[in-house]
Amino acid sequence: MKPLLRDIVPGDWPRLMTELGAPAYRGRQLAQWLYGRGAMTWQSMHNLPGDLRESLAGVYDPAGLEKVERLIADDGTRKFLFKLRDGHTIEAVIIPMENHSTFCISSQVGCAMACRFCATARGGLVRSLSPGEIVEQVQRLAQDLVDDPFPQHGQRRYNVVFMGMGEPLDNFASVRTSLTLFTDDDGLNLSCRRIQISTSGPPHGLHHLAELDLPVGLTISLGGADDASRRQVMPVSGKAGVTDVLDAAAAHARRHGRRVTVAWVLIAGKTDQLEQAETLARVTRNQPFKVNLIPLNELDDDDLQATAGAQVLAFQRVLADAGVPAFIRVSGGRDIGAACGQLRRRRQQTPPS
Ligand code: SAH
Repeated sequence: MKPLLRDIVPGDWPRLMTELGAPAYRGRQLAQWLYGRGAMTWQSMHNLPGDLRESLAGVYDPAGLEKVERLIADDGTRKFLFKLRDGHTIEAVIIPMENHSTFCISSQVGCAMACRFCATARGGLVRSLSPGEIVEQVQRLAQDLVDDPFPQHGQRRYNVVFMGMGEPLDNFASVRTSLTLFTDDDGLNLSCRRIQISTSGPPHGLHHLAELDLPVGLTISLGGADDASRRQVMPVSGKAGVTDVLDAAAAHARRHGRRVTVAWVLIAGKTDQLEQAETLARVTRNQPFKVNLIPLNELDDDDLQATAGAQVLAFQRVLADAGVPAFIRVSGGRDIGAACGQLRRRRQQTPPS
């Protein structure tokens, strides 16, 4: 597969243009088409000379995603299935919030993390996405809001969360480049504050993120507050101890002056016992954290069940009594399989070889 135009950061285009024999300013023009105008075809970039477009087309593809499904849930959540050039599919979601939308995007096709409760984990990791494939999801969702705005929003502001398919810190190089594409003045010019990376904290992942030193939001998917119980539901986490992960998270929070979210999936009988709430409270209290409790989205092919309402409240109460801010989060779009890799799984076809 050729690289995508969006695999290249805007700052590299002037040099690449001169290598193709074109003046450097064409690089800015191209970036303007890609990020200012959201161009997805060669034809649309009409102030670039035809022969330049031809030389570029010999090296790059202008776009890498094709929308194959768009579903709208009762609560307004919009779920998209995109086909990549090699036939694999990924999901992305628009979640309407009060004053903005949240774009939930994927970083990989499948995932290597093997979390027991997650639909994406089922088929293992197929491949990581390129930076362009990550950024194009956001641009396709932004275009969807232009074409079909939410009536309650006067504006089209959005936040980006890496909570779709895949483990972003297991695809660090692409995610890092995508952050440049998101935040660069000549890219999408999005503030780091509007971007959230959600991670199970694979070994070295948080270390690499710390080296980047960017004030992006961070969510740690925990699922167990001590190593043994975490391993039961998130086996790959066995390599990354709870204490190490939370220490790295607290350092991130302090360095950037923003709280880190700890996400905790509530699975009946597995992660919802009050002793577990107490352990969780012990490791999160007096730290720059808040806890999001997420009742499991039950999978089609599994008998794990969501924690019932009264137990969710009891679990939350333990945290609140310990002074830990804890919120209950119900996933949007449950009726359309919008949660966590479920749509792709229902529609999965063998990709063409
Ligand atoms: N790999 C990253 C991002 C993808 S998962 C991570 O682990 O954070 C994003 C969030 O969805 C995680 O907090 C995860 O715990 C949650 N999640 C996954 N499957 C779920 C399910 N079936 N029900 C509820 N939440 C789920």
